[in-house]
Amino acid sequence: MSRCSIVGLLMLTLFSSRTMAQESCGAHMTPADIQRAWERYGPDRGPITPISQDILVVTIAWHVLGRTTGEVAMTEDELQAILDMLNNRWDPIDIEFKAHPVVDRIIDDEWYDQGVPDANVFRAMRPMPNALNIYWAPTLHNGLLCGIAGYSFSDLDSVAMQTTCFGDSDVSGIMSHEIGHWFDLFHTFEHALGLECVARTNCSHAGDFCCDTPADFNTGFEACVNPDTCRLRHGECSEQPGPCDDDPFYEPSTINFMSYIPTGCLKEFTSDQYDRMRYSLETFRPGYVNTGLHAPCPGDQNGDLLTDIDDLLVIINGYGNCTGPCPSDLDGNGIVNVLDLLIVFDNWGSCFDCTDPFACDDGDPNTIDYCWFGTCVHDLESR
Ligand SMILES: [Zn+2]
Repeated sequence: MSRCSIVGLLMLTLFSSRTMAQESCGAHMTPADIQRAWERYGPDRGPITPISQDILVVTIAWHVLGRTTGEVAMTEDELQAILDMLNNRWDPIDIEFKAHPVVDRIIDDEWYDQGVPDANVFRAMRPMPNALNIYWAPTLHNGLLCGIAGYSFSDLDSVAMQTTCFGDSDVSGIMSHEIGHWFDLFHTFEHALGLECVARTNCSHAGDFCCDTPADFNTGFEACVNPDTCRLRHGECSEQPGPCDDDPFYEPSTINFMSYIPTGCLKEFTSDQYDRMRYSLETFRPGYVNTGLHAPCPGDQNGDLLTDIDDLLVIINGYGNCTGPCPSDLDGNGIVNVLDLLIVFDNWGSCFDCTDPFACDDGDPNTIDYCWFGTCVHDLESR
């Protein structure tokens, strides 16, 4: 794995005073990233507009760090709350997220207790192809990292999240920031693609390539944005001169998800950002759309990870022509009939070999045993 693929590293050193916070983005865009960003979103590209009106479903594969004693970085209820938040936030562009029903639990007491030393090793572990892989740990990079993500053109295409961000357990804003990167949004203060003039004369080919996000000098979390008001602080912060001739002072967004601002102020994607996200998914990740990976058990009507008599009864109750949403129409032919019953019989029994990582222990000390989204794996290689 190369560090070249790293984007979206959100790092902060917190000083004792709220106003003395200092941040850095630990991984800047590499020359290869910059070239790919230019090719995909620079001035020579075509219009960034939706290709279809379809609802686009993306499967999320959760990977959660846990201990041998049973503690987990995120409970299933907490993951569900994050999933609901993401669905709410991406609803304006008809992107839906659905999670695979089995969570991949990565058991490592040392990482759990002392922190994951390298977030990129962690988020490269056993990904599900063609899914949005999201990894959770209590501590990443000695607690200096809230989240990290890859672009559509990154070699490492996954997201890692710390379960708190500098003590704040509401990480929904940071999560949205990182998923924004995954959909090819750049920081509002990105300057690797050229310095954006405050007057917006070059906004389509400098900064973040979004013309409706104002040029941004990087307000630095709480250094320049008051967390109570989400407004720019007066004085030095409000009198930053723009980088171009005759530029006025900067007036950066103090609420945009892709800015470095207090986590409680992360509230908004702009219209151009939404357009970019939809476009990036349809154009550069078509293999991630409507894969059905989140529903690996077609006969399981009631979601209990078993295909049994209860599911058969649901099908029978729904028998007949479909009018409106028709979840019992398993083969999608517009009618619930014997063909759907046959699908239930074909999948009769437990949907998965395992749902618990400890169920896969084969007693061999030379293998690492885990449950990979429902299938037991006995891996000979050490990490
Ligand atoms: Zn970022």
